[in-house]
Amino acid sequence: ATPAATMVGTSIGAQNGVLFKGGDVLERVRDTDTVVFDKTGTLTTGEMQLTDVEVVRPATDGGTAADGGELRPETDESFVLDAAASAERGSEHPLAEAIVAGARGRDLDPAEAETFENVPGQGVQATTEHGEVLVGNRRLLESNGVDPSPATETMERLESEGKTAMLVAVDGELVGVVATADTVKESAKAAVSALRERDLSVHMITGDNERTAEAVAEQVGIDPGNVRAEVLPEDKADAIEAIQADGERAMMVGDGVNDAPALAAAFVGCAIGSGTDVAIEAADVTLMRSDPEDVLKAIRVSEGTLAKIK
Ligand code: ADP
Ligand code: MG
Repeated sequence: ATPAATMVGTSIGAQNGVLFKGGDVLERVRDTDTVVFDKTGTLTTGEMQLTDVEVVRPATDGGTAADGGELRPETDESFVLDAAASAERGSEHPLAEAIVAGARGRDLDPAEAETFENVPGQGVQATTEHGEVLVGNRRLLESNGVDPSPATETMERLESEGKTAMLVAVDGELVGVVATADTVKESAKAAVSALRERDLSVHMITGDNERTAEAVAEQVGIDPGNVRAEVLPEDKADAIEAIQADGERAMMVGDGVNDAPALAAAFVGCAIGSGTDVAIEAADVTLMRSDPEDVLKAIRVSEGTLAKIK
């Protein structure tokens, strides 16, 4: 772009809440043919609410702890939620915050854990007053030698409702499932359909599981074939490269810390609104509002100024 076009585009963009970083970004936005959305916080509000707490293997007789014969607390919903919330107190993940807030909202007072470890893309592991607690996905339990299969039916039911369901294990035993729900942003569906009308192909990538991802994709109008789920944070950039494998020029739209490498790998990196500083740093374009429809604004501004000012 000429310096004049860059100046005009940048300034019109800024008036519309779209920040372009540098001159050739306008061309790249115009030349984009594929848009890849992160799910959580981008297509959804990211404001998770605890929706379900389920016991998966109730202790029929109260049970006895394997070590030392102490009576273990009866495994009921409060136990499952209190154990999960204690383990999550050390985490700043939106899922963790929803679990802790949900526990407090149900009059529980989860104690802080003695030790806490965050396993990125999988969950948390903590030593709590209830024992050694795991909260997370199937991969987390499996890699700790806990069989998640007794919860399969419960997990699948919650996931097909678009919820993020998490397994809870205590002392190596599966005890229950907690689920959170996130709300799809009002304009997400309109944004996807407007992009598709312009012949852009629209994809979604997420660390969340397949079923939840597909339920959200269906709500916003993204083809199930264009959904990549269970992508680990360190694999998001590879997922973008796979989408771009045949020369596609992808704009990646994301908000999280996890998204920075993917934003950098994409033809255009676009950080959205509430985004973290890390994401904004890695991005070519920042959408000041948290509105996925502003992706179209960015495209229109770049097309408009480049067409008028040569
Ligand atoms: P996203 O791409 O949606 O931001 P993440 O990569 O952060 O997702 O996490 C992927 C999955 O790992 C989550 O859907 C959840 O199952 C599990 N997970 C991550 N962090 C936590 C946590 N603090 N507690 C429970 N589960 C978690
Ligand atoms: Mg995220």
